[in-house]
Order: sequence, then structure tokens, then C-alpha cells
Amino acid sequence: MERLQPSWLKVLDAVADGIYVTDRERRILFWNKGAERISGFRRDEVLGKSCADNVLAHATDAGVCLCETQCPLAKTMIDGCDREAEVNLRHKDGHRVPVSVRTSAIYDDEGGIVGAVETFVDRTEVLSALKKVDRLTEQSLVDPLTGVGNRRFGDRELETRFDEMRRYGWGFAMVLCDIDHFKWINDEYGHALGDKVLQMVAKTLKGAVRGFDFLGRWGGEEFLILLPNLPGEEALKAVLERQRALMESSTFVKDGHPIRVTLSFGASIARENDTPETLYRRVDRLLYKSKQSGRNMVTVG
Ligand code: GH3
Ligand code: MG
Ligand code: MG
Repeated sequence: MERLQPSWLKVLDAVADGIYVTDRERRILFWNKGAERISGFRRDEVLGKSCADNVLAHATDAGVCLCETQCPLAKTMIDGCDREAEVNLRHKDGHRVPVSVRTSAIYDDEGGIVGAVETFVDRTEVLSALKKVDRLTEQSLVDPLTGVGNRRFGDRELETRFDEMRRYGWGFAMVLCDIDHFKWINDEYGHALGDKVLQMVAKTLKGAVRGFDFLGRWGGEEFLILLPNLPGEEALKAVLERQRALMESSTFVKDGHPIRVTLSFGASIARENDTPETLYRRVDRLLYKSKQSGRNMVTVG
């Protein structure tokens, strides 16, 4: 029966995390298999050595060595507090391994600190997964706040509309629409409410465009709409007048008080010799005209 009882050291070797124990001088007394696997150092290479002695050489992401003054293990042995940190340890082969470390003090029967234990987990895979998420978010075409297309998507769609016009002769209109006095809304009610207004405007516009129209967030409080297949300027003006009136009549309610949100529009039908730049400049000037003429207005040209 006795032989079937596992030794505690064997149990610690079976744990996937790195575990090591030091005395008060930070000399390594125990080093498990997980620590060997993550660091590349075998037990016989580190036992008796100080962990500050170029064995693991914990460093921050900026490469600052923590061993001399900021070692979590040393700090824990001074105040007895458990610590958690994300650091980089030096692998035997020289490269850095990102790890999460936890340190705890070890006490003798009288309550004095005689050493400490550090456990560490390899974060390489977690970090590469996080980087991948960042990359995907960056490449993504959706504006996270409003759920409509982002500027990258808008630029791409604009290029596509131009391709279609040149190849197949399909016309389209470009519209820029900007929230009036949005800075005032932010200043008066706070940025968080400003964000809610942006979401409400995006939703209202989305509901008002057709399935094959494109709606995207072009900048802070500015939206891009691309409308293919319109018979002419009159139809364009009528569509946007409807959207302007819809927004004017929608109220955003904050603590029982209605907040009036209006939009100014600039819009133009693409011409044969236009480029995305010339069309954009024209539409932006028309939007400016709407602003100059009192806002809450559609200007088509
Ligand atoms: P105008 O009628 O001439 O368009 O005036 P405006 O106040 O709307 O225009 P201005 O360009 O002076 O201000 C735009 C404001 O939009 C300033 C900026 O802080 C705010 N803004 C930009 N992006 C965001 C955002 O994502 N959330 C919030 N809440 N505000 C934003
Ligand atoms: Mg504005
Ligand atoms: Mg603006």
C-alpha cells in the first residue's frame, strides 16, 4: 500500500505549469518538469543556483531586467504578499518566453518566511491568439460602435462603384451626411451619450436605405451613403429629403428630455471623368454648403 502513495515531488512534476521553490537567498531548492519544459533548463543545471544568477532573468516587455530590484519573488519574501505578474523569462537557448508568474511565501512553524514558491505558465500561445484577434479586428470592415461599414469598407465600395460605372455604365450617387452640432451634444451630455446618438443615427439611416445601397461610417460623426441606379438628381434629392426629415422627426430621449438630432447632406451623381477624389471633393463642398446655409439640409450638385 505504502508504495502506491505518490511522493509530493512526483505530483508537482505531473503539473504542466513551471514550479520552483527558493530559500531566502533565492537559491533554487526545487525545480519541476514543467519548469524544465518551459525554460529549457534541466533540474541539475539550476538546483542550488540563485534564480537571479542569469538563470531565468525575468524582464518586462520593454526588456528591463527585474532581478535586481523588482523581482516578484524577492518582494514576496519581504512582505509575505502573493504576487502575479506577466514577464518574460530567458530560455536556455537565449530567446524570451512570455509567462504569467505567481509567487507565494513559504513559512516555517514559527511564522517566519523561509523561502518562496513561484509558478509560471507559458503565454506564447495566448499572446499569438490575441495578436491574431487584433489583426482580424484591424482588417475587419465593420465599425464596432455603430455596426455599419467602416472607412476601409467605404473606400473599397467607392472603388467598386467606379469600376462598375467604367465597365458597365452603371451610375451611382455619393452622399456624405454629417451630424449637426455634434460637438455640442458631446459637451452637453457626455461622450457616452454622443456614442448612443451615433448608434441611433446609423440605425435610422440603415433603416432608410435600400438593400443594395451602402451605408458606412466615414469619420467621427460623418456617414457615407452610396446609392446605385438612381434616375437623376431629382430622385436623389427626394431620397435624401426623406432621410433628413426622418431624422428631424426622430427624438433621442435622455432622462425624459428629448434631444433633437439633425443631419446635413451633400450629394452628387458620379460623372464619367470623376475619380474617387474629385467626387469626394465635390460632395464635401456640397455638404459644407448645407452647413453654411443653416444645417439640417440637403444640397445636391
Ligand atoms: P457641425 O454642425 O458643423 O458639423 O458641428 P459639429 O459639432 O458636429 O462638428 P465638429 O467637427 O466641430 O465636431 C465633431 C465632434 O464629433 C467632435 C468629436 O469629439 C466628436 N466625435 C468624433 N467621433 C466620435 C465618437 O466616436 N464618439 C463621440 N461621442 N463623439 C465623437
Ligand atoms: Mg458635425
Ligand atoms: Mg464632421
